[in-house]
Amino acid sequence: DAEIILIGRSNVGKSTLMRELTGHTFSTGKKPGVTRKPNHYDWNAESFMFTDLPGFGFMSGVEKDMREAIKTDIVHYIEDNAEKILVGVLVVDGKSVIDIIDRHTNNDEIPHDVEMFYFLEELGIPVVVAVNKMDKVDDKDERLDELCDRLGLYPPWQQWSDDTIAPITAKRGQITSLREVLKHHLHEAKRDDLLKFV
Ligand code: GDP
Repeated sequence: DAEIILIGRSNVGKSTLMRELTGHTFSTGKKPGVTRKPNHYDWNAESFMFTDLPGFGFMSGVEKDMREAIKTDIVHYIEDNAEKILVGVLVVDGKSVIDIIDRHTNNDEIPHDVEMFYFLEELGIPVVVAVNKMDKVDDKDERLDELCDRLGLYPPWQQWSDDTIAPITAKRGQITSLREVLKHHLHEAKRDDLLKFV
């Protein structure tokens, strides 16, 4: 069994991206907190799937306890399935990610996105950061360099464009960079049999 997971804060565009990657529409309960279960999409007869994990972090109308519970579920899911997870795609909103990371850092908290990035790395799961909503970002290179800096990756971001950083605009179907990076990792994992799915 092989799996590619998508994780990220709520509203970063995970469902939109999932739809673009798989060509399928998902009827996930759009109410935050309702969708606590992983949302699998698998290809019949093939042991490969994309898994959309619930969004973490702030969601209006969702209590802190519930947000914590969601995050705990995500962490457990990843730990329990680490062996078969080929790639972890961390989806972020390119427009707001730096502000959100810096706000948490200034409050002496570890930002969720940064925490998840390191968590996946510690488990030995290759991490790809899908920087979504690039259509809303003017200073693209500068923004991506800042993101690298926050994640402990040496800028310029182009150094990471083969394997880690994939700027995309999921809403317009512009996800080629992500497909290329996923292909890179499937190749590295000697799973060329799965290239057709990405
Ligand atoms: P999720 O909560 O992470 O699953 O996010 P959704 O896929 O539901 O998207 C949240 C909002 O962001 C929706 O209004 C989408 O239309 C919008 N969105 C998704 N991708 C993009 C994008 O590439 N650019 C812009 N501008 N908006 C996007």
